[in-house]
Amino acid sequence: MNIILFGPPGAGKGTQAKILTSQFGMRQLSTGDMLRAARESGTELGNRVAGIMDRGELVSDKIVVALIDEQLELNPGGDFIFDGFPRTVAQAEALDELLETHRTQLDAVLLLEVDDVALIDRMHKRAIEEGRKDDTPEVFKSRLDIYNEQTAPLIPYYDDKKLLHRLDGMGSIEGVAKAISEILQGRL
Ligand code: AMP
Repeated sequence: MNIILFGPPGAGKGTQAKILTSQFGMRQLSTGDMLRAARESGTELGNRVAGIMDRGELVSDKIVVALIDEQLELNPGGDFIFDGFPRTVAQAEALDELLETHRTQLDAVLLLEVDDVALIDRMHKRAIEEGRKDDTPEVFKSRLDIYNEQTAPLIPYYDDKKLLHRLDGMGSIEGVAKAISEILQGRL
C-alpha cells in the first residue's frame, strides 16, 4: 500500500508518518528529511538547496523527483508513506509515472486539515523544540502562502482520482492516528 500524507506545514505529517511506520511497517519517504540530511552531510546537493530551504521556497521539481525515484529503485515492493511530497502538480504527475514504472499505485491521500492559527502556534513550539531555521514567523508565513498557491491545487487533483480522504488534523496526535488507522485498515 502506498499513501500520501498531505497538508500544510505543521499539520503533523511527519509525526503521523512515524506512527504509521511503527504500526504498519510502512516506509516514510520525506523529501524534507532527505534534503536536511543532504545539508547536514554537506553534499553538493545540500549546499545547492540550503538557501532555498531557509527562505521556505520550493526546491526544484527535478531535484525532489530524483530523490523519490532513487528511493523507489532502492526499495522495490513499496509500502511507502510520501510525506511532504508531492508539493506541485508537476511532482504529482511525475509520481504517477514513477509508480506506474514500478508497477504499483497510490492507494490513498490523507489530507490533514488544520486551521492557520493552530499551525502558527505549532510552528512556534517546533521552532523552540527543533530549532528549524524555516520555522521563523516570516519564513513560516511564506511557506503557508506557497502551500496555498502551489500545493493546495493537489487537493482537487487527488479528489478527482477518488483517492482523497479529509481528516480533522486539529485533534490529539493519538486521535488523528486512530482516524488514519481506521481508513487504512479498510484498505489493507
Ligand atoms: P518539510 O520538512 O517537508 O517541510 O520541507 C522542508 C523544506 O524542504 C521545504 O520548505 C522546501 O524548501 C524543501 N522541500 C521538501 N519537500 C519538497 C518538495 N516536495 N518540493 C519542493 N521542495 C521541498
